[in-house]
Amino acid sequence: MKQILKKALKKSNKSYTGERQAFFDFIVKNQHFTIQEAQEKLGISRASVFRTLALFERLFLVKKIDKNAYEFNNPAKHHEHLKCNKCGQLFEIDDHTLHSQIELLCKKYNFSHQEHQLIIYGICKKCQERD
Ligand SMILES: [Zn+2]
Ligand SMILES: [Zn+2]
Ligand SMILES: [Zn+2]
Repeated sequence: MKQILKKALKKSNKSYTGERQAFFDFIVKNQHFTIQEAQEKLGISRASVFRTLALFERLFLVKKIDKNAYEFNNPAKHHEHLKCNKCGQLFEIDDHTLHSQIELLCKKYNFSHQEHQLIIYGICKKCQERD
C-alpha cells in the first residue's frame, strides 16, 4: 500500500511523510471510519485529521460517505450504504438490479452516468430489537 500513496502524493507535488502513511494505512484497514475514530487511533489533532482527509480527498484516496463517515476510495469495491440513525453504523449493500435500474434511468433522461452514491437512512436490526 506504500506505492499507492507515494505515487498519489508525488503526482500532486506533496511530500511523503510517515504521518501520512500511517493515516493511509488506517484508512485501508478500516472499511468505514469517523473523524473521532481517526483522531483516537492515530493520536493526532482534529485539525490534522481534517487537513490530511482534505488532501486525501483531493487525491481520490478517500471518499466522504456522509457528514462524519469516510472510507477508502476503492473503485473495484463499489457499493452502496445503509446507515442506522440510532447507532450510526454503516452497512454495505451491493445489488445488481439497482445498478441496471440506474443505467435505465440515465438512459431515460439522456444522462451520461459518471458516478453515484446511495445512502438509505433507517434503523438497523439490532436497534429495532432493542426497542
Ligand atoms: Zn452503486
Ligand atoms: Zn443501529
Ligand atoms: Zn462502504
